[in-house]
Amino acid sequence: MKKGLIIRSTGSWYELIDQETNNKYSCRTAGKMKLLKKDLSNPIGVGDFVEFEPESENQGIIHKIEPRKNYIVRQSPKNKHQLHLIAANIDLAVLVTTLIQPTFKPGFIDRFLITTEPQNIPVLIVFNKSDLWKESEFQLFEDCKSIYRHITAGLLEVSTVTLKNIELLKKNLLGKTCLVAGQSGVGKSSLLNVLQPGIGLRTSDISSSSGKGTHTTTFAEMFILEDGSRVIDTPGIKSLSFNNLEIMDVAHNFKEFFETSVGCRFGSKCTHRNEPECAVKMAIESGHISFQRYQNYINLIDEIESQNYWERNKKF
Ligand code: GDP
Repeated sequence: MKKGLIIRSTGSWYELIDQETNNKYSCRTAGKMKLLKKDLSNPIGVGDFVEFEPESENQGIIHKIEPRKNYIVRQSPKNKHQLHLIAANIDLAVLVTTLIQPTFKPGFIDRFLITTEPQNIPVLIVFNKSDLWKESEFQLFEDCKSIYRHITAGLLEVSTVTLKNIELLKKNLLGKTCLVAGQSGVGKSSLLNVLQPGIGLRTSDISSSSGKGTHTTTFAEMFILEDGSRVIDTPGIKSLSFNNLEIMDVAHNFKEFFETSVGCRFGSKCTHRNEPECAVKMAIESGHISFQRYQNYINLIDEIESQNYWERNKKF
């Protein structure tokens, strides 16, 4: 049995790299794979390490998935009660965003952070298009730093036009498996192309062996950069919705809220809304927790509550 790293998954076909020879194989699974986690809709994700048996020069059968260090999921496009595995074994998540063109959406950062926080995946927030910034954007960037510096792996302003901080970004990615996500228009493809010319251009190549696996833009894909860093592009993460979450999941995964909740009268059961002696609300008043984060938190739990309400009352 050989060991492989999954670099692309298109449903029933998986492309992997042989860990010894670096040859690529298109593989299927041996029968129905046991899911490592029951509520996942797909058994294998990009970044998974597997054991496989070659059947020909470029095709094989996957027999086993190695245990994952961590993984990122989103709500399955087919069944909203199931989770779709996007990528596994991530060392760093890179969230690409902008302050202008398109305008800044802090809610998206907070939503993204609650997908990485439960798995303890460090997040680097990359603010692209810094060449377009004027004084107000520089100020906004400072504000963002004061909010997110303590709860992420860092914030970096870059430009694919002036190449500002691109070398620094490469250093941050070096030797790691990095998931890159961002809403469309922020310049994620441009950034990937700057990191390595050609990779962000999604071609429509067809897996020569299977004749299937047409490259679509909805599947995650791993690229190995010249310096060995592994970058997982995730075109699927454009919007994040959270039917699978409960309010306490959100409360526990707003990192600084959870840390502060030890001081709440109701401790880790506090939702930080109307409970008496809430340390989080006190921290907001004293300026230790960002009010903007709190607003995004309230929006998220309101959204979850109304979704749960409609779910519960659907049958009537
Ligand atoms: P994606 O949808 O996130 O993959 O975004 P694209 O890479 O397609 O970029 C969207 C638009 O932003 C394109 O018109 C790019 O030329 C532009 N763009 C990307 N990076 C930068 C940048 O650093 N500065 C400026 N001014 N424009 C950029």
